[in-house]
Amino acid sequence: MLKLYNTATREKEVFVPLEPGRVRIYSCGPTVHNYAHIGNFRAFLLADLLKRYLRFSGLEVKHVMNITDIDDKILRRISAEDRSLADLTQQYSEVFFQDLASLNIIPAEVYPRATAHIPEMVGLISRLLERGLAYQREGSVYFSISRFPEYGRFARLDTTGMRDGVSVDNDEYDKDHVRDFALWKGWVESDGEVCWDAPFGRGRPGWHLECSCMSMKYLGESFDIHTGAVDLIFPHHQNEIAQSEGATGKPFVRYWVHNEFLNINAEKMSKSQGNFYLLQDIGKRTEDLMAYRYLVVTSHHRTVLNFTFEGLESSRAALRRLTQLREKLLSATGAPTGGDWPAWADQALTEFRAHMDDDLNTPRAIAAIFGLVNQAEKAFNLGELGKSGAGVVLDFLEQVDRVLGIFGQAEAAPSRPPELPVELASLLEARQQARLAKDWKKSDELRDQLAAAGVVVKDTKVGYDWTWA
Ligand SMILES: [Zn+2]
Repeated sequence: MLKLYNTATREKEVFVPLEPGRVRIYSCGPTVHNYAHIGNFRAFLLADLLKRYLRFSGLEVKHVMNITDIDDKILRRISAEDRSLADLTQQYSEVFFQDLASLNIIPAEVYPRATAHIPEMVGLISRLLERGLAYQREGSVYFSISRFPEYGRFARLDTTGMRDGVSVDNDEYDKDHVRDFALWKGWVESDGEVCWDAPFGRGRPGWHLECSCMSMKYLGESFDIHTGAVDLIFPHHQNEIAQSEGATGKPFVRYWVHNEFLNINAEKMSKSQGNFYLLQDIGKRTEDLMAYRYLVVTSHHRTVLNFTFEGLESSRAALRRLTQLREKLLSATGAPTGGDWPAWADQALTEFRAHMDDDLNTPRAIAAIFGLVNQAEKAFNLGELGKSGAGVVLDFLEQVDRVLGIFGQAEAAPSRPPELPVELASLLEARQQARLAKDWKKSDELRDQLAAAGVVVKDTKVGYDWTWA
């Protein structure tokens, strides 16, 4: 029985999905304005490990990860580099997907982009305004935290003495600046052409809003697991809860699973300290990247991971030992002399499961693997393993690798991208703008163009939806 440490209760809890046999997971994804650093990948690897283990345990998993393609940082960057939003975010989305594949991360079922979900975000803000949980001020809309009594419970905030109606425009702020946060940011000159029309004025969505919107769109108003790094607990996840539960009146997420930081040489990773690494800085060869994957997935997600190149080297050595053993096992011949390999492998697999069930305790799970590996190496060297014993151990390694993903290549990416390419997404958005302006001729033309590209558009109460033809 799988137990997960749930940040919402600060306790390990038995995991029970809302729907028997099916699990719905949402993970905060990347902001595609630059290369992701190795710390970011710790969060994506945790989501991958969790998803793989749930599938290994016989559950069906639907996983959604957002792509933030509009926020303050992106706007600063496009203005500094004089590029279009689509151009910049397309480039770094592609880099991100390549990085995921190079780390053998199984793709999510859906990678929704924020800019393709503006109508849904406008709809969610409207619901919050209707329920009196948000207010408009100077073209922006803010969430009123004093109207949501549970605000702060998740992040364990002390909200006593906070003043009503004091707001913050920045998406990122700390616990000393607990304020009403922006759901919609009214257009300012520095936003340039990046803006959308909404009933409450021209502007763009706040960052926190997109995760509430896109998780509920693809997974329902209540779902099982939300993952992310610990630095997202406040304000991002606290705000997601307030927005979602405020709008629906239903519990948003059952289990919150967070990973700790990744430090470099015992210090916080920072550009100014010169200890900041991208994936390409630690290697381009598959062997280097799999060693990085090994290092991260065999460290417990709730402990701070201290990245060093010596640590990476040890991971590479451990992984090499496993791959070399696999090669030896393939070459084994003859009959085994002594030893009950099926029973020993069963025992090792039972131990592996027991540790994984204990809040994904991979350091112990990997120790259980090496217990059998040591035995098998010794028997092979003495010529005692035989072909059938080797087959049992190979099968065992294959089983555990379904969870750890340290040997093989990722499952093939879906042949059709789950998310619309930017050019089609912008056609969709242009059509929506034409509809809002009641320019039916133009909206029909755009619908035809989209149909020609294989996209079927469906209008809904809050905006539109699309599917591949
Ligand atoms: Zn998020």
